[in-house]
Amino acid sequence: PLQAGIVGLPNVGKSTLFNAITKAGAEAANYPFCTIDPNVGVVEVPDPRLVKLAEIVHPKKIVPTAFEFVDIAGLVAGASRGEGLGNKFLGHIREVDAIVHVVRCFENPDVTHVSGSVDPLRDIEVIELELILADLESVQRRLDRTRKNLKSGDKKYAVEVAALERIEATLGDGKPARIVDLSDDEKVLLRDLHLLSNKPVLYAANVAEDEAANEDGNDFVKKVRERAASEGAEVVVVSAQLESEIAELEGEDKAVFLEELGLVESGLDRLIRAAYDLLGLRTYFTAGEPEVRAWTIRTGTKAPQAAGVIHTDFEKGFIRAEVVAYADLIGTGSYNAAREAGKVRLEGKDYVVQDGDVMHFRFNV
Ligand code: GDP
Repeated sequence: PLQAGIVGLPNVGKSTLFNAITKAGAEAANYPFCTIDPNVGVVEVPDPRLVKLAEIVHPKKIVPTAFEFVDIAGLVAGASRGEGLGNKFLGHIREVDAIVHVVRCFENPDVTHVSGSVDPLRDIEVIELELILADLESVQRRLDRTRKNLKSGDKKYAVEVAALERIEATLGDGKPARIVDLSDDEKVLLRDLHLLSNKPVLYAANVAEDEAANEDGNDFVKKVRERAASEGAEVVVVSAQLESEIAELEGEDKAVFLEELGLVESGLDRLIRAAYDLLGLRTYFTAGEPEVRAWTIRTGTKAPQAAGVIHTDFEKGFIRAEVVAYADLIGTGSYNAAREAGKVRLEGKDYVVQDGDVMHFRFNV
């Protein structure tokens, strides 16, 4: 499953946020496996389209799609040199698909800041520098090896050396690998480096409880927004403390509480959605009487591989798919009406599944 890793300096609110995520996930009875690893929280992706589909299909149950947050505590300045449990945590980051970087934007004299004062920009730089330094080491190690290969006469390594040198220069300037412009071929060559500073990042600005309803948050948040904008990254304003209270509530109670706070939806829901987008994920649906269900695919996934998300047999035996766009199904009011209106298409193995497609697969067993 796709994973977003939660990182940040100590005492910024990572575990508070992670606990809110797990608590919300614990309510999600569809994913019982979520309790196996204490550092992994499974969350359901809120999607109002599921309810609309259920109004048409009247299924026995609704199953949202889900993905995972991993708590990667323990990053401190000097981690790349092995400070704290440094390298171990950097290793965990290597395994995730995206990074949720929690930054402290709340003042609280009772909660010590590791660097003595609240300063989100400095904090972001401390963490980013550790990722950059760790990457610099991986790149230099690889560069040594690749240069040797090139020297022993194998010309094919020239491309890789050149790409590595560009990345090395950028990292050497204290900038992340993700800003280096690489061709698709170069990306493939360097994929197995799993560079940390190449992963997509999203900032979670953790504000005080009474600032959660204010999108602009406070001056700290403004600075984080400016910084994020300069690198094309998203910011989600949350109050981890408040989210852990919201996560205790369900249904009507939750709605009332959010309204009292002046919030349209919980920060957690916004965070989940932003992380989903960041990972380049799309949703398709299956809609039958037993269940209406959302499934997660990456952008650009073709029909057989999308079927494979449900079951590998669906992919192996794929024949074709009946597809109707969500809007067409809702617009016509029923599957039969959609069919009569010519909105149900038959698609083959090269069809790229679109977000919101309602799919019915035909396959050999
Ligand atoms: P971590 O080290 O990054 O995992 O930080 P924790 O989640 O353990 O939080 C450190 C301290 O900050 C705890 O005492 C939390 O109660 C407090 N804290 C976390 N988030 C918030 C918040 O949104 N508002 C306030 N006022 N305190 C918070």
